[in-house]
Amino acid sequence: MRISPLQTNKDINNKFSFNSVQKPKQNFNCKTINNLSNYYYLPLSFSGNRTYSSDKNELFEVPSHFLIGKCGDVPCPACGRKMLNQNQFLQFKEELNAVDESEYINVLEKWQDYMMPVELQAFEDIKQTIKKHTDMRKPNDLRTALVILRHSKLTQLQAIQMRRVKKMRSLAKSLPEEEKAVLMAKLEKLQKIIKKTGEESPFRRKIMIDKISKIKIKNPIKYKKLQDIAASFPTSNDIDSAWIVKYSGKNKLGEDWTSYDIALRLLAPSIANTDHILAYSTEQGHDDITNYMSMHTGCNTRKSNKSFLQWYYEDKKLRQQSMEDYFKKADELISSGQVDNPKYTDYVAKATETIREVSKGKVEIKL
Ligand SMILES: [Zn+2]
Repeated sequence: MRISPLQTNKDINNKFSFNSVQKPKQNFNCKTINNLSNYYYLPLSFSGNRTYSSDKNELFEVPSHFLIGKCGDVPCPACGRKMLNQNQFLQFKEELNAVDESEYINVLEKWQDYMMPVELQAFEDIKQTIKKHTDMRKPNDLRTALVILRHSKLTQLQAIQMRRVKKMRSLAKSLPEEEKAVLMAKLEKLQKIIKKTGEESPFRRKIMIDKISKIKIKNPIKYKKLQDIAASFPTSNDIDSAWIVKYSGKNKLGEDWTSYDIALRLLAPSIANTDHILAYSTEQGHDDITNYMSMHTGCNTRKSNKSFLQWYYEDKKLRQQSMEDYFKKADELISSGQVDNPKYTDYVAKATETIREVSKGKVEIKL
């Protein structure tokens, strides 16, 4: 099978039909993958700063020349769970396309080892719901299961959000009168949005939080505190309840997310993407393999442009273990000749050295 590089999304839609793609071989080693073009076709809105509609099931072209990410089954250095390569994702889509939506759950079950933690928890919630309901009321598709779960998950999410509002309110009380009045008025609006159960409210809530984080506060410490609380509102990237509320509602076009959309979104963030150890945009990291780690697309989105140490200390134990597992696997692939490119001979030594330098010796990767 050969996929030729395509230039635009339109080209992809015209020329690239998954139903016509030949079934990939079960063997996912790197040599197989290297025979493909140097392009990934990344679904959804997970390619950094590009802007496009994330609500269509379109695939987008993202150039990636980093070979570790093209090997299937490499553990993710952020969360430790396995990463998918593009071939595996194509196979997953083919399996979905071959069955009725009532069987999506069985297809997903086969691939659940690749799901990231939040998506895996959401999938567990869905499975529990299907198991719990019997006979007539038994949901047989993902959309119905999510709709059943919506009410209880929305209640959970609202409680967490209201705790954040409370924190902001006590911060407001410590501000000068004028600043306090502006913040209090915005919090009043936010609270109303949080309490609404309408399907479009998650998007409106985010707009409101963004507005709040832009309120001018003279005291830099209090301003920073407001930013931190605003950033701590959970999103569908952070917890299963937010994930379920989002996908049991409507997309930005005002349409229901279908079971097919939901199935794709449970697994698509698990595709391997290329991370810059030293952030490319904010820390002037090199665009070079010595500064690369392959990472789940979703985990990479969550890492965003955080500094390496900020990201590392979010969950020190998990990150240390996951990076060691990642580099061990990379070393194994390179030394066994699976990654067939001489440029990679020193990859593990050099990238782990980058980590040591970036962290000023605080983080050592032991192999
Ligand atoms: Zn991950």
